Parts: sequence; structure tokens; C-alpha cells
Amino acid sequence: MFDFHLHLARLPQPEQLAKALLERGYHFIAIACEPWEWEILEKIPLDDKCGKAFGIHPMIATQVSEQDWDKLRELLVKNTDAGVGECGIDKRYEGYITSEKVAGQSAFRSEISTQEQVFKRQVELARELRRDLQIHCVGDYARLIKMLKECRFPEPGTQARSIFHRFGGDVSIVRAAQSLNPIFSLHKDSFRKKSTAAAIAEIPAEQVRFETDADECFLNEEGRCPIKSGMTVTGIVDELITLLQSVKARYDSNS
Ligand SMILES: [Zn+2]
Repeated sequence: MFDFHLHLARLPQPEQLAKALLERGYHFIAIACEPWEWEILEKIPLDDKCGKAFGIHPMIATQVSEQDWDKLRELLVKNTDAGVGECGIDKRYEGYITSEKVAGQSAFRSEISTQEQVFKRQVELARELRRDLQIHCVGDYARLIKMLKECRFPEPGTQARSIFHRFGGDVSIVRAAQSLNPIFSLHKDSFRKKSTAAAIAEIPAEQVRFETDADECFLNEEGRCPIKSGMTVTGIVDELITLLQSVKARYDSNS
């Protein structure tokens, strides 16, 4: 069992939870995508089958300071196996389009939005440090792929991967991403759109992974939030295992 994207630091009792997951043979990449999560995650001991990623989520792109950037670089330099992210673009949050467009004027496409700037800076950091990139996209996948290519990520000859977390693109995106050393991390929601379900069938098997994306709002198979229902650490572990297995089962029945 390997969960390719888990928001460990956002879950209750993250250290005890990590321990309980490892005892059940459940490995994962733990994502910390806001400065407050970085410190929590950094201190949690994991075994060497697990991974960590530190980054800046597009939902907070307009709120980051230069101190945050310094801290992020410092963390990545210190944690030599850590990935960068999750980072990306999201049309639901501030900074997705340029301020000119927000003001109702015609947008200058040559100007890059705050979310794009914050994303590109992380792509450059990942390229420089030769790390995997955990990529989030709600909105224009083609725009995101164009940015990765402009930043020449990943650097040729390195093992760094472009991980499309909670993948929701169509077949044109699967094809366009092939030069980016891609991994498509599938979530139960990845099967909702017909165009994505069709694209998933075309992804080479070695590029497919599974994830729960679980944070404090995750919903189990029945659509209930185990955290809100006051479940114990053991109960949450059971829910995560069921959820991850159900994603894998959906993939098996899709292809
Ligand atoms: Zn996430």
C-alpha cells in the first residue's frame, strides 16, 4: 500500500497516525503545502519507504513572504530526499488570473499571474535541487504544462519527476506530459469526469500511482468525514486503507 499524496500534517495527531500507518504497512508521501505545516512534518520520523514534500499551495499564493521562500529553500536543502509541492494553479483561488483581468479590463497575457509566479519559482527550485514536483491543477492543464516546459523541468539526465497529483486532465494532457517524466497520481475523483477516465486507460502502467489526498476534510467511501465523526487514530487508519484500496479497484475496473 502506497499513498502518493497524503496531507499528514493536517490530520489529527499526525505523529501517532504516521506510526499507526507504518505498522499496518501503509507507506506514503506526506505533503506540507503551507508554512505552518512544514515544521510539523519536518519533525515527524518516517521510514525510508515514505517521502516528504514541502511547498506552497496555490490557495495561499498571494500570501507568501520572502521569509517563507527562504525557509522553504532551507528545508529542501536540509531534507535531501524531499520533493517540492504541492504547487500549481487553481481557478478557485485568488491570483489565478492577472489583476488587470480581475478589474474587468482586458488581460495582458504577457503578464503572469501571482499563482503562476509562485508555481514557476517552485518549478525552478525543484529543477535546481533535482527534486520531484507534486503538481496541483484545477483549471487549465495546458497552461501548466506550458510553464513546466518553459522552465525546462525536469533537467535532462536527472531522475526528477512531474507528479500530476489528483489527476483530472484529458488524453491530450497525458500525451503532452510525456516529455516531463510524468507520474499520474489517481484519486477517487479522477474517475468522475468521462474524459479523465478515458485518459487514464491510456496512461502507461508504470506512470500510474494512487492517492487519498487526505487532509482534515477527507471523505471516506460513504462520503462521511472520519475526522468530523470523532474517529480514533486506528479508525482513521482503517478508513485510509479502505479508501486507497477503492481507488486501486476503480483503476483495475477502468482499464
Ligand atoms: Zn493535496
